Amino acid sequence: LSRRHSTSFRASDLAVHLTHTPKTMPHLDQSLIFGKNTTDHLFWVDWDFEKGWHTPQIVPFQPLVLDPCSSCFHYGTECLEGLKAYKTATGKTLLFRPDLNIQRLRKSARALALPDFDGAELLQCIRKLVDVDKKWVPDKKGYSMYIRPTMIGTHQQLGVTKPGSAKLFVVSALVGPYFPTGFNPVNLYCDETRIRAWPGGVGDKKIGGNYGPGIAYTAEINKLGYQQLLWLVKGNVTEVGTMNFFMLWKNKEGETELITPPLDGTILEGVTRDSILELTREWNEFKVTERAFSIHELTQAAEEGRIIEAFGAGTACIVCPVQKIFFKGVDYEIPMKLGKSGLLTKRLLDHILSIQYGEIEHPWSYKV
Ligand code: PMP
Repeated sequence: LSRRHSTSFRASDLAVHLTHTPKTMPHLDQSLIFGKNTTDHLFWVDWDFEKGWHTPQIVPFQPLVLDPCSSCFHYGTECLEGLKAYKTATGKTLLFRPDLNIQRLRKSARALALPDFDGAELLQCIRKLVDVDKKWVPDKKGYSMYIRPTMIGTHQQLGVTKPGSAKLFVVSALVGPYFPTGFNPVNLYCDETRIRAWPGGVGDKKIGGNYGPGIAYTAEINKLGYQQLLWLVKGNVTEVGTMNFFMLWKNKEGETELITPPLDGTILEGVTRDSILELTREWNEFKVTERAFSIHELTQAAEEGRIIEAFGAGTACIVCPVQKIFFKGVDYEIPMKLGKSGLLTKRLLDHILSIQYGEIEHPWSYKV
């Protein structure tokens, strides 16, 4: 490696090229389609084996030009992240725990032999990008700017080798509330023969290859009236669709317990999951447990009336109530005290939204 090889790009080197043709802002209403209303600019930075990281740039939103032999098109050398920026009532822009997304991106990149970088530098670059596009952070509660950091192998060689070049880019889009008219509970379909992740695999990495197959399975169960898959690993409940899974129940000992599967390598370390665990442990009102539990424990609890509520958790929806779970020919109804969600699900939604929109000051909020 030459002396000029750069092991990280630096935010202080950021070159900003502003657009001369800003887009018109869409109306803030329920017709917003997720990911369709991209902002005016994007961030990108290239890497190659010889030089290391190049100069990071903010440029007008535009297509990528890539060699068709780029390894991302052939061997899935692609990883991604998803986080949001929120506008507070006093006009400040906040990011929610972006440090965790950046840490997770670096972990996913390592799993694909994509290059590492200094996470603090990427955070500064994202701050600058959001600031440049700040008119795209809507000042209406429930609306936000969705930010998608992505990394791809751009190596122009058809051999299955470590990428010799890569691109890190960040695009953003204006998004509306996930549940514009109140919660919309989901029905889950659980099928032991459909496997998303396995021990020793990459289920704990946010890489594109984990998502494509799930799209086809989900389309099949959508036709049957179920919205999401409940994924199992060796009979244990792991995740729901692209969310982490939580259940509030009376356990066999009769204790009220919030339970979620542990980070055993088959589960994505959700930022929302981590936030829910930390908040509920702080509240200290019921037992909070990370442990493996089987689908049979769940169905038995449903039969015995011990489930209080269940929900998925992720950045897009924060929490998503579960209404029923199909397993081996039976639909297990999950109670929802508030009609369209349980009490805890609603409380968590409200509390996390209050942090995200700056109504509650919290160290999880990062000012742009
Ligand atoms: N599990 C999977 C498989 C995911 O893709 C995601 C993110 N969409 C989550 C869980 C939730 O993670 P987060 O709370 O960080 O959005």
